[in-house]
Amino acid sequence: MTSPLWHPFTQHGLGEPIPKVVRAQGALLHLADGRTLIDGISSWWVTTHGHCDPRIAAAIGAQAQTLDQLIFAAYTHDPAEEVAQGLIDLAPRADGRDPLSHVFYSDSGSTAVEVALKMALGYWHNRALDGLSTPRHRILVLEHGYHGDTIGTMSMGERGVYNAAWTPLLFDVTTIAFPHAGQEPKTLAALEAACTAPEKPAAFIVEPLILGAGGMLMYSPAVLREMAAICARHDVLFIADEVMTGWGRTGTLFACEQAGVVPDIMAVAKGITGGSIALAATLATARIFDAHLSTDRARLFYHSSSYTANAIACAAAAANIAIWREEDVLGRIAALSQGLAQRLGVLARHPAFANPRQHGTVVAIDLIASDAGYLSDLAPQLRAFFLDRGILLRPLGNTIYLLPPYCLDSDQLDQIFEALAQAGDFFAGSA
Ligand SMILES: *Cc1c(COP(=O)(O)O)cnc(C)c1O
Repeated sequence: MTSPLWHPFTQHGLGEPIPKVVRAQGALLHLADGRTLIDGISSWWVTTHGHCDPRIAAAIGAQAQTLDQLIFAAYTHDPAEEVAQGLIDLAPRADGRDPLSHVFYSDSGSTAVEVALKMALGYWHNRALDGLSTPRHRILVLEHGYHGDTIGTMSMGERGVYNAAWTPLLFDVTTIAFPHAGQEPKTLAALEAACTAPEKPAAFIVEPLILGAGGMLMYSPAVLREMAAICARHDVLFIADEVMTGWGRTGTLFACEQAGVVPDIMAVAKGITGGSIALAATLATARIFDAHLSTDRARLFYHSSSYTANAIACAAAAANIAIWREEDVLGRIAALSQGLAQRLGVLARHPAFANPRQHGTVVAIDLIASDAGYLSDLAPQLRAFFLDRGILLRPLGNTIYLLPPYCLDSDQLDQIFEALAQAGDFFAGSA
């Protein structure tokens, strides 16, 4: 009997194995057939402290028996208020910059980014109603960006085979070249030119420090800082998509901190609940909120989803924030980052690999291959190779990356890097 399941980003026609997981703890996934896997990518970038963290699990259990779900239009509850205050306290801040001061909940990274986009456009719409600006609709994006899989977020992401079916419906954006090493001045000049073009842009959206789905492409905090400064100079809203980079991935709680950048709007999701349950938030500065503040109901922010600020998800996020406050999470991240750096340095000497890179707990390296595109057969072959060795990895084309939970121990690190070296031996020249 075939399964009714239709999996995401899965070509069912290839008949790849679809392992069944029955239990997870820490960095380990336990399969129905008795095997265990090390989760090398935090179950698609969400698990931070480890699977089934006891504090988060307990908070979910207690909340589920107290208040599960509540309409959030003009109603409120403690978990939502506690998390909102926690987010504001933890958000990047800098002298002379308006702090992020308002929190809008949704339920996935894609919706958090859609909300960011709608806030930015709503800001300029309402400014125009007041005669303070001409309307602005153009969005600037970074080449190779990824912001989600809804129509709006795909519009702002890299175009390719993964969105070809919908290309005619995606809205037009201005793409700024990625700041590859040595090319940074070109990127900054292109951004400056786009900000001063006759059609004034509404906003520039970036993934700070790491472009995830675009191939774990990395750039420096200095470039991030300069990009934000250019936007500020030309009154173009700066949107940080911290959906992947947030919650410690790059070595700091949020990537923007490393550049001293306070975005006008910031999207967070994935690790907000420690990776336990779906929740997302879009943070905005007072001027974005105030542009929607009026006695006129036509000015309110028209966005909602049924599960906005779900109380169980907010309780999980509150427990996650408590862990960040009370435990030495940054210490764990620093130790893991060091363990990764040391082993990546050794692996980088393997002749099958090129372009090693790292920001905090995210490391990536490219397998030298003739067939390196997204649809290369290499990625599924590598997936199977690592699965055979008890490791969950999901390479992006010929780019192999690790994005592990922070509880990964040194034995597990050794096991993963042993398998990476074996992959280098096995696939060198064969691709
Ligand atoms: C994963 C991701 C998203 C989308 O988040 P979902 O929860 O999968 O909708 C958006 N932006 C970035 C940078 C991401 O990595």
